[in-house]
Amino acid sequence: MIQGFCCVICQKPILGTHRLSARYCGRVCRNKASEARRKEETLRQRNEREVVLKRHEDWLRQFQLELLRRAPPEAGGYQAGLWTGNMTYWFPTIPLRVAYRNTLNRTRSAYNFFTIDPFEPPSVALVASYTIRFVHKFYPYPILLNNHEEWQVRIPFAVPIRKLPFSLRAVPRDLR
Ligand SMILES: [Zn+2]
Repeated sequence: MIQGFCCVICQKPILGTHRLSARYCGRVCRNKASEARRKEETLRQRNEREVVLKRHEDWLRQFQLELLRRAPPEAGGYQAGLWTGNMTYWFPTIPLRVAYRNTLNRTRSAYNFFTIDPFEPPSVALVASYTIRFVHKFYPYPILLNNHEEWQVRIPFAVPIRKLPFSLRAVPRDLR
């Protein structure tokens, strides 16, 4: 009776013993489908990053110049701090049990800071005002606290960042 139901991957008819809602003939095709979804998601994220870089080209160039101007000679990287309402959270972080993070430049980085040279654009979770601080260029990359007027920058773009230890909604409105 249940003729006419075909697997969306291989087009073979789905046998009547399967549920009416089945879209795949079996495990192999279901796996193929989820693999395809994963690839699509990767591609979407990659495009999203490219769009961000393209759209904010001018801002990024200005920011890079300002970064170079302000960085002390011993600096190798920088971090962007967001006031979350009760603490400052410093981007970027490398997720627990992961060796690398993805950069906006579509490379991988093992550092919990953005590099100055080559320039790595900041990648943050929220369009907001951030405190920029520098880290030393040599291991263990200590934070440079001694120089300083505080530098606040509004970063005009954001990318999805998973598993943040705070709620983005908790960030005070006036920082956005
Ligand atoms: Zn199939």
